[in-house]
Amino acid sequence: MTGWDEKKDIIVIGSGLAGLAAAIEAAQAGAAVIVIEKMKVTGGNTRISDGGLAAPGNYLQKKHGIADSAELFYEDMLRAGLGLNHPHLVRIVAERAAETIEWTRNELGVRYLDRLDRFGGHSAARCLTTKGHLGADIIKAQTAKLKELGVEIRTRCLLKNFIVDRDGTTVCGINIQANYQFPDEDSGTAKKMGVNRAIILATGGFGNDLAFCRLQLPELDETIHSTNHRGATSEGLVAALRIGALPVHLSWIQMGPWGCPDEKGYGKGARFASYSVFPAGILIDPATGSRFVNEWGDRRHRTEAMLRAGHACFGIVDSIGAEKDSASLKDCLKRGKVKGFQNLADLAAACGIPSSPLSKTFNDYNNAIAAGQPDVFGKPLGPDTPPLKKPPFYAMRLWPKLHYTAGGIGINSKAQVINLQGQPIPRLFAAGEVSGGIHGASRLGSCSLTECLVFGRIAGQAAAAGKHRT
Ligand SMILES: Cc1cc2nc3c(=O)[nH]c(=O)nc-3n(C[C@H](O)[C@H](O)[C@H](O)COP(=O)(O)OP(=O)(O)OC[C@H]3O[C@@H](n4cnc5c(N)ncnc54)[C@H](O)[C@@H]3O)c2cc1C
Repeated sequence: MTGWDEKKDIIVIGSGLAGLAAAIEAAQAGAAVIVIEKMKVTGGNTRISDGGLAAPGNYLQKKHGIADSAELFYEDMLRAGLGLNHPHLVRIVAERAAETIEWTRNELGVRYLDRLDRFGGHSAARCLTTKGHLGADIIKAQTAKLKELGVEIRTRCLLKNFIVDRDGTTVCGINIQANYQFPDEDSGTAKKMGVNRAIILATGGFGNDLAFCRLQLPELDETIHSTNHRGATSEGLVAALRIGALPVHLSWIQMGPWGCPDEKGYGKGARFASYSVFPAGILIDPATGSRFVNEWGDRRHRTEAMLRAGHACFGIVDSIGAEKDSASLKDCLKRGKVKGFQNLADLAAACGIPSSPLSKTFNDYNNAIAAGQPDVFGKPLGPDTPPLKKPPFYAMRLWPKLHYTAGGIGINSKAQVINLQGQPIPRLFAAGEVSGGIHGASRLGSCSLTECLVFGRIAGQAAAAGKHRT
């Protein structure tokens, strides 16, 4: 095919974690690569993420003597995913996670906090967090590496459609809108870009595309907000579906139980809830003053329980638990998203919770910890769950928000996009949240960034190894 405005060996679509990892690998393998990005800024959801990466057998676990294994991680992911996960893909993430962390340290110079977190549904403390507590730390390091490799990241460049060869299946280019102004569909100039080797789709999830989410899950209404960046929309995924890519688990849309209805987007409260309230505190239904779920269970269980309650719930933690994330606490208090109280009676009155059931809930919870009894909801009561005794007691409202789209297009273990027959679509690869199947029904916290890096790198290597078109 001729008539290209521009041609490269490989085009990577999307400048998040997966796309940039793919671009680095492809460029290091000698391919001429370009990354296109529709927004003005790079980094997508990765940029605003908490920078948490789960990796069994990582260097910090070794340093702190924490026992863990790829097998345990694999089992955790399958349990949370209700076994819907595509096991061969999960296995790859589990087995390559620790070496991928080393790659970020050695190749990109990413630095991590000297701390490991254990999130709901994980059997071990295995989550590393970047020094700045943001995915942007890795995006910056990847961008610097790409600059060194001479790879252009072209922003405001929207993928519209894939172009296929006369055979009707082999992908050979894309239609784009250059100088695109999100979200104005008529903005920019239409152009055609061709490839000699391959295209890597890394356009992320569609968690901020309520219309598309509702096509999958009609029960979602306008009251449900999203934690995602504005560009987390579905058109990249839809372009791949149009040329025959396999849709996988599109209706498994994950909501985050840590959403604070009193602020927009992800906000500051979500982090405080994840790092302090859920591990060290309790979740209360204000209608009853009681707990109703394992606060450290997987996201799906917690979200479903909250939706069943039917109204915003209160996360409560004491001053010892709040110290786990004192920086977020300070921020949230200043913004009025979290409120502090010297005693439970004042907290109950201010939050509209019946006082005596609330005291009973606290007593039961603290007594179980003191007696070393198992928790009634199955929360692991270990050293991370001190009794809730020391004022001030902090409370915040919580209501689920759209957070992650586990479904996407089907890929195989080489990150090749597969069609409805399970066969690779020639020259088309995908990685990251745009792909589906790895997390099944529910993604465990801190497993996406790991997956994006593992499969981004695989896609970049495999795409570069493809034959040149003649
Ligand atoms: C607030 C928040 C916190 C999170 N924290 C964590 C965490 O700590 N750990 C974890 O594992 N996961 C976390 N996640 C999930 C994780 O951040 C994402 O799943 C992951 O970053 C997705 O990476 P990606 O490369 O697939 O997509 P993204 O990082 O979203 O990048 C995709 C890019 O493609 C661009 N794009 C989309 N469509 C087009 C198009 N048509 N043309 C051109 N460009 C396009 C987008 O604008 C975007 O820049 C979090 C998510 C959110 C929202």
